[in-house]
Amino acid sequence: MSTKSEEILEQYKSAMMPTYAPSAVLASGKGVTVRDVDGLSLYDFTSGIGVHNVGHCHPKVVKAIQSQAGKLTHSSNLFVNEPATKLAAKLVELSGLGGKVFFCNSGAEANEAAIKLARKWGSANGGRYEVVTMRSGFHGRTLATLAATAQAWCQEGYDPLPVGFAYADFNDIESVRAAVNERTVAIMLEPVQGEGGVTPATEEFMKGVRALCDEKNLLMICDEVQCGMGRTGTWFAWQGYDVKPDLFTLAKAIADGIPMGALVSNAKFADVFTVSSHASTFGGNPVAAAAALAVIDVIEGEKLLDRAVEMGNLLKEALQGFVDKYDKLLEVRGKGLMVGLVVDGDPKEIVEAFRAQGLLALTAGGGVVRFLPPLVLQEDDLEDATDMMSDAFDCVFGE
Ligand SMILES: *Cc1c(COP(=O)(O)O)cnc(C)c1O
Repeated sequence: MSTKSEEILEQYKSAMMPTYAPSAVLASGKGVTVRDVDGLSLYDFTSGIGVHNVGHCHPKVVKAIQSQAGKLTHSSNLFVNEPATKLAAKLVELSGLGGKVFFCNSGAEANEAAIKLARKWGSANGGRYEVVTMRSGFHGRTLATLAATAQAWCQEGYDPLPVGFAYADFNDIESVRAAVNERTVAIMLEPVQGEGGVTPATEEFMKGVRALCDEKNLLMICDEVQCGMGRTGTWFAWQGYDVKPDLFTLAKAIADGIPMGALVSNAKFADVFTVSSHASTFGGNPVAAAAALAVIDVIEGEKLLDRAVEMGNLLKEALQGFVDKYDKLLEVRGKGLMVGLVVDGDPKEIVEAFRAQGLLALTAGGGVVRFLPPLVLQEDDLEDATDMMSDAFDCVFGE
């Protein structure tokens, strides 16, 4: 007899394009746990890939979505809706950059908007269009953001990619300087690389990029799609450095699972886009915006920025214990609750062993097991998860 999970997976395989190889079929979530359709409970240390910073189905977020869904679910951008307007004002306030916001529906779209804004400004300022991005970075799957993603494994088969990108080495300011030329208009980077291996930028590098942008009249663009919304212990990861970007992008965690993306500018670039120069049918959707306002409320009310730092330190400590014990575990790195465990070998094997114990985690490039637990994580949850990891490592490394 097959389980409900097996039945649905069978149907999934026949009806959905095989862009993923999923294992669990999820039915519900609450806080830091999810339940599959057969009732099995799992700790979700993926947060739906960096989405559920306030946990699954936070009551305040659920209430905000339900309430807004009964009032107005869409307005088009030919009209104003109040939740999106309030959210834009709130993001500007949290950023402290004094600029403005453009809403869209995903991380790739937010980065696409940032690239378009930079090009639009560059076209009027020296005919410049090239964007320098970092090797092992990740910016999305549309053609332009794929071209911005300097990783062969996801570009393969999609030639010709849009032109106008140059690549440099992350945390190597001389490499970035060498990639800048008379066509360059912007430098784009993740303050903490996510997919590429959970690698934080060094303070020196962030400051170097800012100084280079000032020197060459370039925009500094931070992709905060994964590291933003409190994940690293500040609202936006760039705030953990002594620099200010010109533009930054948000998506994943902004509305706790309701699709939403945002481009936030400083004052200088707030009015580069003009009427009809960029658009999105669903951008600033009132249900998503209501969810996002609730997310911000929860992060503030439950002091989740501090919690991300505290729990991140505990998680890193626990992982360091395993690194000290097993030769095949090399290093712990990350910021706040964006944590990577560097392994000698295939991180997939470890993620699968975790899964067998009831813990969901992710892999990342460069042989990394990636942990993105909800910021509402409690100490006893972490203790349970650490026990699961311990059993999983025993299985993998044979004790
Ligand atoms: C996930 C991610 C994206 C792409 O976001 P989508 O919503 O999948 O389009 C872009 N940049 C970073 C840093 C990401 O982690």
